[in-house]
Amino acid sequence: MTDNLIQRTASAYTYPLLIKNLLQGPVVNNPKQEIVYRDQLRFTYQQFRERVCRLAGALTELGVKAGDTVAVMDYDSHRYLECFFAVPMLGAVLHTVNVRLSPEQILYTIDHAEDDFLLVHEDFLPIVEQIKGRIDTVQHYILLSEQDEQPATGLPMAGEYEALLSAAAPDFDFQDFDESTRATTFYTTGTTGMPKGVYFSHRQLVLHTLGVLAALGTSTSQGRFHQDDVYMPITPMFHVHAWGLPYVATALGVKQVYPGKYTPDMLLGLLEKEKVTFSHCVPTILHLLMNHPSYEQVDLSNWKVIIGGAALPKAMCEAALEKGIDIFTGYGMSETCPILTFAQLTSEMLKEDDQAEIRCKTGRPIPLVQLRLVDEEMNDIPKDGESVGEIVVRAPWLTQGYLKDQRNSEVLWRGGYLHTGDVANMDRENYAKITDRIKDVIKIGGEWVSSLELEDILCSHPAVGEVAVIGLPDTKWGEKPLALVVHKENAEQITAKQLLAHTKEFIEKGMLTKQALLLKIVFVDSIDKTSVGKINKKALREKYAAS
Ligand code: AMP
Repeated sequence: MTDNLIQRTASAYTYPLLIKNLLQGPVVNNPKQEIVYRDQLRFTYQQFRERVCRLAGALTELGVKAGDTVAVMDYDSHRYLECFFAVPMLGAVLHTVNVRLSPEQILYTIDHAEDDFLLVHEDFLPIVEQIKGRIDTVQHYILLSEQDEQPATGLPMAGEYEALLSAAAPDFDFQDFDESTRATTFYTTGTTGMPKGVYFSHRQLVLHTLGVLAALGTSTSQGRFHQDDVYMPITPMFHVHAWGLPYVATALGVKQVYPGKYTPDMLLGLLEKEKVTFSHCVPTILHLLMNHPSYEQVDLSNWKVIIGGAALPKAMCEAALEKGIDIFTGYGMSETCPILTFAQLTSEMLKEDDQAEIRCKTGRPIPLVQLRLVDEEMNDIPKDGESVGEIVVRAPWLTQGYLKDQRNSEVLWRGGYLHTGDVANMDRENYAKITDRIKDVIKIGGEWVSSLELEDILCSHPAVGEVAVIGLPDTKWGEKPLALVVHKENAEQITAKQLLAHTKEFIEKGMLTKQALLLKIVFVDSIDKTSVGKINKKALREKYAAS
């Protein structure tokens, strides 16, 4: 057998897939392109590059070195974007702290990640001050302030962000290093037990960026992300690097708009004023925007939005399409960097009248993602649009385990595939459709009923604002579904009986199994959410267990 490994000329440059290389093109090709922060600040890519160098210089001056972990607690901002680049480019690890966790959980993640430095926005100082006596690893704090007068704090601040940047040099010589160096880390609460750390290397983030670019950039006319777009994230940058899209937007060299603290006024104002054309958010945020008084007045006919983090309800999709929004689903999880699929339409599908069906599917795997649906023995499930199995995946950008957690890492990667815990079917055209999560599936008398499907049906009633369906233990049936329903504001009041009759219509149309008739409906004022705004089914199951 001949050895066909490539021969390396001694002087040949082995190009490492490093985050710094994503910055080269846009800064050279689009130096005047803008980066905007709320209604407060705008600067060019040329200045952005300088600010990344200044940040790297300032951090180095404070003692940050390769292998250290630098944590950030901030809203979606230009500062966060600068950290996305400068920190990993130094060979350090960026820990994007989930500021919506409880102070105790935040303390756990800071300790567990062994953060050495912490950049903290003034709004989050009270949280850090509450736990500061128990933070063991952090040597230096840096203040992120937007006020002329800085807040008083008992934390040992090494300086304020802008002042440190001003004092640093606009150039920095970023060295090459191994592309498998850890670049980022953060914690997921989407599993049982304590938050679990996931981590991604430079190589993984670069390949994720290119994979997402290939999927979005090559679409013919729907859901395309291209150089004339204006990008604004509406998912927190601590949550899976805002789905990795800031890296994609920067590599593309598009105008970027960062909204800071989310308020519907600010988000709608920026969408309009900055002519934003590309965003991504969870359904809850879109729901918030759609229910805001000024929503009707804002022209969103040029807006493309990826909905992920939870299934896109059909009624929401149809309402968005009516307004001219190009809305479609994206799917992934913290463990997967995150993007695995997009529900983009082919040119043929764009000719169809009812597009919501496809746009609400989970979508097709993006380039390099191997996605299978399997049963418990890892046998493939037929792609017939009906049979369901767990989604397991391989891709070059999946976390290789949970940080310092061998046991759960092995469970995650059993059989050599990353297990998502999501249950889906797949049609013959390779569009997956999540029907439930393994932990969310409701088994009634031996039959599976999808809580997501039930939620979709209940949500399609005009008087329903929000709904969560959970399975509760039942001696006769094993489990019974309970729907917690929030009345839509200003809509007519309805009774549980009426809502059940609405559900029955779907059963009669054969769209729902008859076990769903066992549904119990309870009206509530609000539904418990997790720190990232998703319905907290774990908490709900515990809360209503005795009902
Ligand atoms: P997280 O790790 O918090 O991002 O949560 C990931 C989980 O959210 C996935 O495993 C899914 O259960 C759910 N999820 C994400 N995107 C979608 C989607 N498009 N449709 C349905 N569920 C989704």
